[in-house]
Amino acid sequence: TKAEAKEKVYQIATDITFAPFEFQDVNGDFVGIDMDLIAAIAKDQGFQYEMKPLGFNAAVQALESNQVDAVIAGMSITEERQKKFDFSDPYFDSGIIMAVDSDNETISSYEDLKGQKVAVKTGTEGASFAESIKDEYGFSIVTFDDSANMYEEVRTGNSVAVFDDYPVLAYGIKQGNGLKIVTDKEAGASYGFAVSKGQNTELLEMFNTGLANLKASGEYQRILDKYLETGS
Ligand code: GLN
Repeated sequence: TKAEAKEKVYQIATDITFAPFEFQDVNGDFVGIDMDLIAAIAKDQGFQYEMKPLGFNAAVQALESNQVDAVIAGMSITEERQKKFDFSDPYFDSGIIMAVDSDNETISSYEDLKGQKVAVKTGTEGASFAESIKDEYGFSIVTFDDSANMYEEVRTGNSVAVFDDYPVLAYGIKQGNGLKIVTDKEAGASYGFAVSKGQNTELLEMFNTGLANLKASGEYQRILDKYLETGS
């Protein structure tokens, strides 16, 4: 019931390093578009929650085994995931893109990946995309649990490229993470807030209503601008 929903402290899992959606600021606090969105939606709808930064794959697994109530982690609304989870209305458009070290002058297309290693994050849409073309282009895949280590892998030259979400790579590059984009964006799914199928229906409804309210009030746009316009 609605009354019970207001008493409950929802456990919401998220990624660790996925700027500008979730990342730690200088004080070690988790900030970002997802963090501000859920805070504003909870305030608007009057529910309580606790954020669990578990890493992306761990967050999805925790939701699947009902150890948490929801996930907000720049999580793409894929057909595959819709079999297991119920998603909110989409709140951000994404897509998959390839990046290489900014000094790399030899890799500028998928063809150049032949015989090379490519870094991806476990359980992500970027990983699935790399998996889907690796035989065709003859590269091998190295998996990581978080984006920070995955980017480091490319900077050190152990892997020549990374496949990740366009908004995240573009933001990181603007922040000077030492990578550059060399290909066009591949279609990807939009981000949604996820709950287990048929569970926490009231939480999902509150998320959707709150999101619509934030869009109407201009607060949604203010949150995006805070992270994307200034690039800080
Ligand atoms: N959007 C991607 C996915 O859902 C990556 C999410 C992430 O790494 N936090 O697969």
